[in-house]
Amino acid sequence: MNGEKIFNSIKSVEKSIKKHKDEIEKLDQEIGDGDHIFNILRGLQELLNLEDEIIKKPTDQIFKQLGMKIMTTVGGSSGALFATLLIGMSKKYNSELSDFINLSQMFFEGVESMKKRGKADIGEKTMLDVLIPVSKTLNDLKNEEDISKIAEKIIFVAKEGMISTKNIIATKGRASFLGERAKGHIDPGARSSQLAIEAICNQFINN
Ligand code: ADP
Ligand code: MG
Repeated sequence: MNGEKIFNSIKSVEKSIKKHKDEIEKLDQEIGDGDHIFNILRGLQELLNLEDEIIKKPTDQIFKQLGMKIMTTVGGSSGALFATLLIGMSKKYNSELSDFINLSQMFFEGVESMKKRGKADIGEKTMLDVLIPVSKTLNDLKNEEDISKIAEKIIFVAKEGMISTKNIIATKGRASFLGERAKGHIDPGARSSQLAIEAICNQFINN
């Protein structure tokens, strides 16, 4: 894993999120305040602006700087939470490990940090309904060697997690104010996280 791979992933995430801009905006208008797509696109742009400055740095420093950038520039719950995810990931980087094992351990740490920061867990109608199952599956597949197979499984699990947010009530975030009225709507953060994961996985499948 190096700066070039990391920035290629960010670019493919941005492409996918832009493609689904109207859909994500509508989801947050339905059960939030409508700013989620703006927060996400702002964050991605800020990260891409850092490319020339940090692409050659060691991987853990790149993750840390990406996280700090989001922390200081992106508003909303999602800004603080994604920043926490990236900074958490930076702490577990170990250059001795394969990219896959490394990513899996880093992601686990990042998701644990996010859970603590947002005092949330699975089943609360948030992006964690995507991120936790993905983290668990990455760990379950640690002995699998076929990277395309892993990526396909992760895409599937992320989709299932995203869809699982539809018919439950929210117990965290703005959607929790709606009670039963949040039912029938997919959580915007779950959708944007799922799209981001899918975009990153597709890169592994295509390589
Ligand atoms: P805000 O809710 O402050 O307007 P955003 O619209 O950018 O922020 O992000 C909303 C998303 O943040 C929600 O769809 C949900 O997935 C996620 N979210 C909110 N609170 C939490 C939390 N405590 N833990 C994890 N994710 C959360
Ligand atoms: Mg919002």
